[in-house]
Amino acid sequence: MLSKLVDCHSHIIDHPDVFSLLGAINLDKILVMSSEPNQWQSVLKLHEAKSSVIPCLGLHPWLSYKVKQELNSFEWVDELRRLLLINPKALIGEIGIDKCSTTPGTNTVDKEFQWQCFEKQFQMAVELQRPISVHCVRQHGKLHEFFSMQEKWPPSIMLHSFGGSPDSMKQLLKLKQAKRIYFSFSEIINQRCKWTKDLIRECPWDQLLLETDLHDPTKINDAIVNIYELVAEVKEKDLKEVIETVHQNLEKFLQF
Ligand SMILES: [Zn+2]
Repeated sequence: MLSKLVDCHSHIIDHPDVFSLLGAINLDKILVMSSEPNQWQSVLKLHEAKSSVIPCLGLHPWLSYKVKQELNSFEWVDELRRLLLINPKALIGEIGIDKCSTTPGTNTVDKEFQWQCFEKQFQMAVELQRPISVHCVRQHGKLHEFFSMQEKWPPSIMLHSFGGSPDSMKQLLKLKQAKRIYFSFSEIINQRCKWTKDLIRECPWDQLLLETDLHDPTKINDAIVNIYELVAEVKEKDLKEVIETVHQNLEKFLQF
């Protein structure tokens, strides 16, 4: 059964033994995020080592401060474009905005720089027509506003570990390009966010994705089964149907 399961958002590249533990993962596909420029090459190598790994290159909002301090420029944007051009199957992720992510050593959130980084990566996704995996914490209204102002869109957008309110989901689903948006859920977000079951219930069946958001390759198989089972329970469907649907949805998300 595991052979048809997919994990639409993971961070296994953060694990020091990821290359030797890769064999333990038996999924049809696993999207592997990078969080900062020094992980981009490793994620691409992971894809070479196992074809079910879909490489995602991006700058996470939690780490945007590092780029600002170390590179103090947008040089990384050119490097990202170069790597995406020579890797036509790579996606863009993890990118996003997070109202709660303070710069270490300070009590402040550098929202302006986070948004600049997000917008640059969004524009690149439009220009190169690549899907994106987006992290959003307590900025769903702003994100909706940003999307509503865009004329050109990436082929598909995943709002990963979606924790916005059911109302924010409704608003996003009213956007002109709403069919390009996918909502992805994880076991972790279900533990943290009390309305996850409502969101799963409301999420259009053809825009639903599932993920682990985990770092440890040895925990992926169990964690992904748990969230599939939760969806089967909440949507009152057979597990088999959930597996088929999410599989199809990911195929559609990856058509670009
Ligand atoms: Zn993540």
